[in-house]
Amino acid sequence: MSGVPSCSTDDGNTVLNATPKRVYAKNCIRCKESKPIIVFRTTDTLCWPCYREVITKKFKNNISKSRSDKRELETFAVSLSGGPSSMVMLDLIDQCIGENVKRAKMFFKVHAIHIDQSVLRGLNGNSNSNDSEDNNTGLAIQKQLEEICSSYKVPLTIVPLENIYGDANETREQRRQQLVEVFEQMESNNTSKEDLLEHFRAQLVYETAHKLGLGRILNGSSSNRLAIRLLSSTSKGRGNSVPNETNLLDYHRTSTTVCHPMRDFLLKEIAIYHRYLGLQDLTVPSNPFHSINLNQSSHKASINTLCENFINTLQDISSQTIHTLLRSVDKLHSPVADESMFCSVCSCSLTKSEIETLKKSVGERINNSNSNNNTKCSTTTTNNQATSCCSTDSSKSCCSNDNNNNNNNNNNNNNNCCSDNSSTPLNLHTLCYSCRNILDKKSTTLTLPPYIKENSKTMVHSYQLRNEIKDFLLNDDDDEDDDN
Ligand SMILES: [Zn+2]
Ligand SMILES: [Zn+2]
Repeated sequence: MSGVPSCSTDDGNTVLNATPKRVYAKNCIRCKESKPIIVFRTTDTLCWPCYREVITKKFKNNISKSRSDKRELETFAVSLSGGPSSMVMLDLIDQCIGENVKRAKMFFKVHAIHIDQSVLRGLNGNSNSNDSEDNNTGLAIQKQLEEICSSYKVPLTIVPLENIYGDANETREQRRQQLVEVFEQMESNNTSKEDLLEHFRAQLVYETAHKLGLGRILNGSSSNRLAIRLLSSTSKGRGNSVPNETNLLDYHRTSTTVCHPMRDFLLKEIAIYHRYLGLQDLTVPSNPFHSINLNQSSHKASINTLCENFINTLQDISSQTIHTLLRSVDKLHSPVADESMFCSVCSCSLTKSEIETLKKSVGERINNSNSNNNTKCSTTTTNNQATSCCSTDSSKSCCSNDNNNNNNNNNNNNNNCCSDNSSTPLNLHTLCYSCRNILDKKSTTLTLPPYIKENSKTMVHSYQLRNEIKDFLLNDDDDEDDDN
């Protein structure tokens, strides 16, 4: 303190001491040799090799926590957007399992999945350059990702976003058209469009991972991203699923688990790591809708950007904000009212009251169709019309799905008689509160991806089935009676 100059004021002669600037070690505090590149967590000055080691150690720790059986050679799906966070995650994975790892090598495999959303570049008001150039940028990103993945010796699967409409039925151009139309015709705001895009992307990653037979997905969301999601989800009425969306492990799809191993790292720390890797930023915009209605300033374009701006400002004022937020949500768990009742769009679990409303609506439908049973593909459960392909009376029904697997498989490859989605309207009660807000009443006229109606239908059917057989089920009390 002695070196800090003090000054005296004229009035009262009080002596004011200037706040001393924090003095950092000139060399890296770990190896005591090299020049530091970062002040890590406000105190530790670290050089690049030491910084990489510290980050890798934390990352390894998170990966171990997310594994169920460490002796099993598990394969993770890696969701790869091309942005700094997912690219750094890829390098960290290489630090865990790569050929050059000498010490404490981990045993698991990875398979990268990239969702190519170049189809959205053509949205109205969003194309600044001509189509061929856009295509080139999309292809260029894919090519670079392929090169990077092959340098890490990681297999890569690229899935175009329009495949949310299945990958067999229509031509690629038709699927692209359908997707663009949904976003263009949605009357709602940017927030809804961004959220729907997010759900589509997540759904495609799940489907692809499922097809590849992978049960765990590594998602590279940074702590900034997760804290922003915590705030934005809460403000959009998704508080119920916030713990699932932001904690290290997300169990909301019973057959697939999403892990967030980058949860401990701030975007700033990731950016520094990314710069030292010398990789190009291949980020695809997560909010491609902003340029459509840009009469407002960009950070007010949606709830998501508003939350992003708010969290970043708070983080600038106090560097502990994000960690404190995430540590608090650590202590919470998403309640699961019924394991087979999931939102048809985002797969978060429905709340008790939502399930009650759904049951009521299904009950009403049964009554209606009883009085009017000449409808094709009726959902009637009481009269066993053997001719109706969709009858729910037996497991041989072409539409029946394994009840245990519903919502997780989301197979949209059923070309069966019931896939005529345009005829039956979507049952909005099979959606969670926030997805009902995204797809308001007018949106039901849109050609939504088939997986949504499949999920919705499966859930209604399985409820009806359970309702039918409930009188024949033995409960625990009956068992005891038998024993006696
Ligand atoms: Zn060092
Ligand atoms: Zn939902």
